[in-house]
Amino acid sequence: MREVYPGIFMVTEKGRLGGLRPPVNLYVITGKRGLLFDAGYGKRSDIDFFVREFNSIGDVCRSRGSGFNVDRVLPSHMHPDHFSGLAKIRERLGLSVVLTDKMARLISSRQGYIASYDNERLFTDSWSNPLYTKYVVPLIKKAGDRFYGMLYGIDFLADPDAIIDEDCAIEINGEKWRVFPSPGHAGEHISLYDPRRGILFAGDNVLRSITPWLGPPKSDLEAYLDSLNFILALPRLELILAAHGSPVADPKKRIREIIKWRIERLDQVRMIVKKYGSMGVTLKNIVSEIYPGVNLVKHMMARGWVELSLQYLVEKGEIDGVQTRRAFKYVHRL
Ligand SMILES: [Zn+2]
Repeated sequence: MREVYPGIFMVTEKGRLGGLRPPVNLYVITGKRGLLFDAGYGKRSDIDFFVREFNSIGDVCRSRGSGFNVDRVLPSHMHPDHFSGLAKIRERLGLSVVLTDKMARLISSRQGYIASYDNERLFTDSWSNPLYTKYVVPLIKKAGDRFYGMLYGIDFLADPDAIIDEDCAIEINGEKWRVFPSPGHAGEHISLYDPRRGILFAGDNVLRSITPWLGPPKSDLEAYLDSLNFILALPRLELILAAHGSPVADPKKRIREIIKWRIERLDQVRMIVKKYGSMGVTLKNIVSEIYPGVNLVKHMMARGWVELSLQYLVEKGEIDGVQTRRAFKYVHRL
């Protein structure tokens, strides 16, 4: 653990398999009535590690004579690296789980959660065959669910202790902090803001050294840009504590960089579709054109934001998505 601001500690759970399971940060806000922001992974080894770190933070606070009453956990959003630890952290440390209504509905059952990830086009955009769709796709999905379930230690939770509004004031150490919705990366994403010190717990929306991942079916490019602009307009913004990577000490500059990157990439996708004219082009070919020769994992990660950019351009009426006999193609409206 690392004290990233007086009284605020960052605990980083280990990553595995590169981008498939990135290291993730949990923040312990200590004090007379503090809070844990985000719950990390749910594997036993992750929970054991977190409990040890949490107890050492308690020791540090007690040795200083400062308060250590952390009795709640609030996650930023319902991706597995942020919510999987909720149930076991509650069990081991007695913290109450605080969720918004959207979050609670998403993680109340395994079935509902899996259904919320359904994205048929992932399997059928460049090769579609009824037998493949009917028999092979469900097997791939099942294997995927099992693999990710084990990698992240996904654990569902049907009985949160408190439900808060996604736009509300929350009391931390006797002061009013703010929770506000920040959809885009995920529809239920919230941020936690301390207006006095200008500290923002931004979850996955603003990261220091990598561009936050966006992809269907849970992300929305327009909502994401709106959220970033909303954050830029906060009255005081000194420090962003992000879910992955180290703190962002120059938050406004970093947010402007991310917005610029997104807009340039959107332009790139627009130009590629335009180039193919009435012939149209598949998502897969666009990704390969932007990232030639990358491995399958990189390709899968990149196709997320490319697909979202395409959805954005379809919604704006600039391009059309067309199902042909062999593939799903994007065609520019000239
Ligand atoms: Zn996420």
